[in-house]
Amino acid sequence: MVYLPLHITIKNHFLETNLTTIQALAAERENENDNFRSFLKKQDSEKIDWLVHAINADITPKIDCTECGNCCKTLMINITSEESERLATHLEMTVPDLKSKYIEESLQGKMIMNTIPCHFLGGTKCTIYEERFAECRDFPHLHKDNFTDRLFGTLMYYSMCPIIFNVVEELKIASRFHN
Ligand code: SF4
Ligand code: SF4
Repeated sequence: MVYLPLHITIKNHFLETNLTTIQALAAERENENDNFRSFLKKQDSEKIDWLVHAINADITPKIDCTECGNCCKTLMINITSEESERLATHLEMTVPDLKSKYIEESLQGKMIMNTIPCHFLGGTKCTIYEERFAECRDFPHLHKDNFTDRLFGTLMYYSMCPIIFNVVEELKIASRFHN
């Protein structure tokens, strides 16, 4: 077991936000990230959560999602009935019209957006930002607990989300993975 520091200092590292560069670095670091996932699995999950929350709180405000929008081009968004009703009101549509235009609904009533990229992405910006869905607000989920239980999903987006990329790189330093 590696003991992690009880506090961290996040230095002003350069934040990489160029998606092409991030994709190339992700391909280069595939093995390193596999090793990092195994390393994190051996750590105290509460301490890792503490580090991830601190790093995320520092890095997320420095990255402008409106200049990226990459998750809106790749995520499959689940929608609740309350969200569909709120959006229908916002768009001045009926719920049935909203569903037929934008939503795929299963026989069990489970709803997902019917296109990827999302209908509501305009360039790199969300055109319904105030009404966006809980899944959009929560991504990339780095403010949540139990980070080490979600490593597979998080690292899957390492090559696509600049926030995840930079938080993971900072976490490698803060957790002393590179020592
Ligand atoms: S609703 Fe907005 S934030 Fe959510 S996926 Fe669509 S464009 Fe992105
Ligand atoms: S959450 Fe990540 S992928 Fe989505 S817009 Fe922000 S930086 Fe880009």
